Amino acid sequence: MNLKDPIDKLPLVGPTYAKKLEKLEIRTIEDLLNHYPFRYDDFSLISPISRVQPGETVTIRGKVEKIANEYTKNRRQIQKATVSDDYGQIELIWFNQPFLAKTLKTGQIYNFSGKVEWFGRQKAIISPEYEASKSGCIHTGRLVPVYPETAGISSKWLRSRMKTALDLLSDQIREFLPQEILDKEGLLTQKEAVSQIHFPNSKTLAESSRRRLAFNELFLIQLSALIRKKEREEKAQGKPFNVSADRIQFFIDKLPFELTGAQKRCVEEIASDLRKNTPANRLLQGDVGSGKTVVAAAAAYLACLNGYQTLFMAPTEILANQHFKTFQELLEPLGIKTALITGSTKTPASEVQIIIGTHSLLYQNFDPDRVGLVVIDEQHRFGVEQRALLAQKGLFPHLLTMTATPIPRSVALTLYGDLDLSVIDELPKGRIKIKTWVVPKTKRQDAYKWIGAKLKESGQQAFIVCPLIEESESLSSVKAAVKEFETLSEKIFPNLKLGLLHGRIKPKQKDQILNDFKQGRLDILVSTPVVEVGIDIPKATIMLIEAADRFGLAQLHQLRGRVGRGSLESFCFLFTENETPEVIRRLKTMEMTNIGMELAEMDLKLRGPGEVYGTKQHGFTNLRAASLTDLALIQKTRKAAEEILSSGQINFDLQTKLEKYKIDTVQN
Ligand code: ADP
Ligand code: MG
Repeated sequence: MNLKDPIDKLPLVGPTYAKKLEKLEIRTIEDLLNHYPFRYDDFSLISPISRVQPGETVTIRGKVEKIANEYTKNRRQIQKATVSDDYGQIELIWFNQPFLAKTLKTGQIYNFSGKVEWFGRQKAIISPEYEASKSGCIHTGRLVPVYPETAGISSKWLRSRMKTALDLLSDQIREFLPQEILDKEGLLTQKEAVSQIHFPNSKTLAESSRRRLAFNELFLIQLSALIRKKEREEKAQGKPFNVSADRIQFFIDKLPFELTGAQKRCVEEIASDLRKNTPANRLLQGDVGSGKTVVAAAAAYLACLNGYQTLFMAPTEILANQHFKTFQELLEPLGIKTALITGSTKTPASEVQIIIGTHSLLYQNFDPDRVGLVVIDEQHRFGVEQRALLAQKGLFPHLLTMTATPIPRSVALTLYGDLDLSVIDELPKGRIKIKTWVVPKTKRQDAYKWIGAKLKESGQQAFIVCPLIEESESLSSVKAAVKEFETLSEKIFPNLKLGLLHGRIKPKQKDQILNDFKQGRLDILVSTPVVEVGIDIPKATIMLIEAADRFGLAQLHQLRGRVGRGSLESFCFLFTENETPEVIRRLKTMEMTNIGMELAEMDLKLRGPGEVYGTKQHGFTNLRAASLTDLALIQKTRKAAEEILSSGQINFDLQTKLEKYKIDTVQN
């Protein structure tokens, strides 16, 4: 038997269990061993029965004197056993587990672990774990692992299969880190760590095995990113631009506004990429409204001076349109021609220097020698696939990806370790803070009234975001939005014009609705939460978010950023029916801060990266032991990864481990 064998090869795991285990992403025996406990029950205190005290969690070892099913006064079925050792006896109680009366045999000796409590006037252990064996116990008498479960797979079952897998195969667990790193970082060996994470001999060992496994995850993610970066730099022929400080200054001087310090710094950082012989791969991160477009325009201008074309991609046609206008305004006066490609327009004439379109540009053909720069706006997955697609067409341009998603440094280093990062951490002068209120149930009608009056009187506009039902635009989300739209139109705002936008609406019609909104033909745009509306609507000053408690803070911040784009004072209402103190406290941070990064960092602590960044969707990471908030370990592992890469000590076992992280880079 082998660690890579399918899980049903393991004794007592048949096809039925194998199927259930798939829900936990366990397909091989190795996957099983990588399913770590999320906590331990401490049953390590072993006590004579006569000594146990109410409140203690203990393990006793004794003989079952009797066991029977009984009914309590309120007709619940319980199982009651009496167990004795040489010094005393005690009652054990279970609820609704009639099979126990057959499983546990009177006259036989077992271990029982659980919490001692008063049951009536007697001491009793309630719902204890039990097992017969004296040596090598796994459910009692030790730190007992408790696992993430799924239907039909209990922690108890997992524990026994873990034990079998470790007994049979732990000798096959190979070390893949060099001894030097183990020594330097004081790490357990891989074999020790995997054995001890499941059945630790002490709390300290449980801790150090978790640390070793966390080290693995962060180290492997970063090493694979660094390898990707190195390969890219070695393979691809870049297009070094001639970029002088004068040229940059000339562009800046022609702008209708003064760049912020952060924008200037980012332009500099990008410029230094463009001078290099290797293609840039940079992520430009900046809050909504921080002014990313003009930074990209500076890069496009520099490409143009060097005789290269720029492709600029936006997530929707309407945004592409908006960018097209911006680029025309900024660059036409400098004699640079911009073209817009949408579904209906053909490839533009070759004298065009900047081509703007949606992400579908990636699938069109361009002259590899002419395209010097590709900019991708509002991208949620950064760089890897886009670069692969471009490379397939023989394009190795400088690549600039832009996002408003605030990405804490720790996350950038790990998840996007092969990207260089620039951050615009400053908003242009004169922006007014968006006034934000958390609105409890009782204030809902007042808020509606206020909004209705404000819109009527000012001619301004509002967004209303429907409750988040599922992560993707499901039929039930659409139905909920349609219903919300009807209620709002008929009952709440009968005197205003409302529009509805959701993911099942065809792109053409979607653009029509957005356009109506932009032109002021609608007062309120009702939309599902996941539908993309990253567009400038200067007269939209009110954002109302339903069931705000279901969103992360960073998400709320993004939604809020749809208003407050012009110079008008703007407002954000966070509706919630959930008024527990934690929820209110969390939402209230939105009232206090307007800084996306602060909110993202708070999210990361409160909800974890899986929720915030959809790390699972990245295909390569499912952090089980490591935390993206552990900046110290992230930095250590980064250093270790850099060292091992430069020393070229990537042995066979390490290579094998890295395979898993290669999935989405094969073509890169
Ligand atoms: P985002 O980073 O969200 O893409 P944009 O690039 O769309 O932001 O910029 C938002 C608005 O701010 C635009 O109207 C743009 O012209 C303006 N803007 C950008 N930089 C500055 C600046 N330094 N000073 C004043 N206004 C700016
Ligand atoms: Mg933008």
